[in-house]
Amino acid sequence: MKKTINNNQNGHPIVGIDLGTTNSAVAFINKGRPEIIPSPSGERIIPSVVHINQQGQVEVGKTAQDALIAMPSRTIAAVKRKMGSEEEIILAGQAFLPHEISALILKKLKEFVDARLGEGDKEAVITVPAYFTDKQRRATKQAGELAGFIVERIVNEPTAAAMAYGLFNLDKDKHILVYDLGGGTFDVSVVEIMGGILDVKASTGNSQLGGEDFDWRIAEWMAQKIQAQHGVNPLDDLRAKAILKEEAEQVKKLLSERDTVEISLPVVLFKDKTPIGLSTSIERNFFEEMIEDLLKETMDKVQEVLTQAELTVEEIDEILLVGGSTRIPMVSRLISQFFGKSPRKDVHPDEAVALGAAVQAGIKSGLLSKSGMVVTDVAPFSMGISVLEQWKGISYRPGGFSVIIPKNTTIPVTRSEKYYTVNDGQEAVSIEVYQGEHERVKYNHHLGKFLLEGIPSNSAGAESIEVKFHYNINGILEVSAKCLSNDREMSVLMQDALDRFSEESFLESTTSLENLWKDVKEDVLSAEEEEWKRFQQFLDDAVEDYEAEDVEKNITELKQEVKRLIKRSKHLLEHASSEESAGLQEIIESLNAVEEMEDVEEILEAINNATDALIELET
Ligand code: AMP
Repeated sequence: MKKTINNNQNGHPIVGIDLGTTNSAVAFINKGRPEIIPSPSGERIIPSVVHINQQGQVEVGKTAQDALIAMPSRTIAAVKRKMGSEEEIILAGQAFLPHEISALILKKLKEFVDARLGEGDKEAVITVPAYFTDKQRRATKQAGELAGFIVERIVNEPTAAAMAYGLFNLDKDKHILVYDLGGGTFDVSVVEIMGGILDVKASTGNSQLGGEDFDWRIAEWMAQKIQAQHGVNPLDDLRAKAILKEEAEQVKKLLSERDTVEISLPVVLFKDKTPIGLSTSIERNFFEEMIEDLLKETMDKVQEVLTQAELTVEEIDEILLVGGSTRIPMVSRLISQFFGKSPRKDVHPDEAVALGAAVQAGIKSGLLSKSGMVVTDVAPFSMGISVLEQWKGISYRPGGFSVIIPKNTTIPVTRSEKYYTVNDGQEAVSIEVYQGEHERVKYNHHLGKFLLEGIPSNSAGAESIEVKFHYNINGILEVSAKCLSNDREMSVLMQDALDRFSEESFLESTTSLENLWKDVKEDVLSAEEEEWKRFQQFLDDAVEDYEAEDVEKNITELKQEVKRLIKRSKHLLEHASSEESAGLQEIIESLNAVEEMEDVEEILEAINNATDALIELET
């Protein structure tokens, strides 16, 4: 029976999820192979867009994406870029946190899973960019739980992509570089496959760089053109901004196939009730210049990850391109130039991560135990605490960063360091936890803090405190501090350090999302929908007027041409032979016949025929 094929030891089916900035997908292991679970209507990936419609119902995916321009204040895309932040997102007048919006996307995927594998509890492995901070990982885990999944593991996206590839390529030892450029994030990892072990050697990236940035570069360029021509900045208008952004993405995608793309937007916004549009074209070369600095940044990261992994360019055997933005031809070109060989073409840029997450799920559930694959990952950033540091050799200043787990340490890992009291009679220490690479904590991410009290009163430096960090396989950190002289200990899972994620607020979120999912409110048009309808009507009328004007202008011009042709024929008639006269009479009659007509096609046909006949007579 379907239900048993993907169960782990607890009896729950387990799936792998790629929760992407732009698109999301879910997969499971079926007969020993990872397989995408499509939506009931057959979509293999869905846009990570959430919309609350006028009935108050949540829509996720393509329908939500279609509403992005029509109802921007009811629709949200690319929420992944805000994950882990406390930034409130107002959607249809309701406030959400980014992980709550992500929960709605995951809830949609859960519907596909339930339809395929049956109702009941489901476990999930969810992927995150390798460069996601601890806070962003926790927010992702929370989103999964809010959606009703038991979140079994958080896996790094490039690791997942390597797993999808590695499952069928474990026989040969090799080094793989995974270049993952999606909608909002960039990750690059070096993975070693050796004796069936898939070992991530190093990982780096930028959690704020991706295809969205390329879209904005085009959108800004289009906006500048409009501003130069009409003196208004369309980016100041929410809807015009959405129109430009959507067009920019389409243009960008087309530029992956073609050298030039025509841009024709009849209406972007209105100025004094007059529609303002944009008609221009863009060349691939120009687009490449626009994004060159961003792609160059990704290549710098490629060099950086090689240095961290202590490998040379020649030691990389395969390059996997993952993420929708790797379809931009310049990406393969830069990679080929850098490595002196082409990247592999057989990985699906949109599906590899979800498939890899399913492989991780399969390893966890034992379904892929025969594959013999073992996977290890690394901490993508350094973690440590704030300490007093010696300053100018004479005094101390706070805010120094003492690293306990260095970047790229294989995980899970437990490391500890000893610290000493700095004041006479000091009975407490504040442990402030950070992650990042800067030697001053203020430039790194603050993860949380706690107080260790009960240290015996003693002279400065006489009491020692052991601070222990345990970084688990999900990339989530547990910190403890112990006074070594009396064994007083304080241990904190960073996850619990944030009030936001308390049990109470979790329940609150679950209930409100649950209600939202089911709730069908009264069918009342909001002011925004009213406005949109008016705008649509105005737009339709404007386009109709524009077209009507165009036809009118055309007919007038055509009729002038008819008159010119009649005049020319009559002029020729004055000196024509009798044979030519008959032909010319016929031409004049056919032109006279259309003189009073309003049908563009007929007039055009008469003009064309007459012109051909006159040319023949004249030569
Ligand atoms: P992902 O986050 O991996 O789903 O990637 C989504 C990103 O890939 C979005 O920014 C898309 O606009 C971009 N993308 C998808 N197809 C193409 C294409 N043919 N050319 C350029 N970018 C693309």
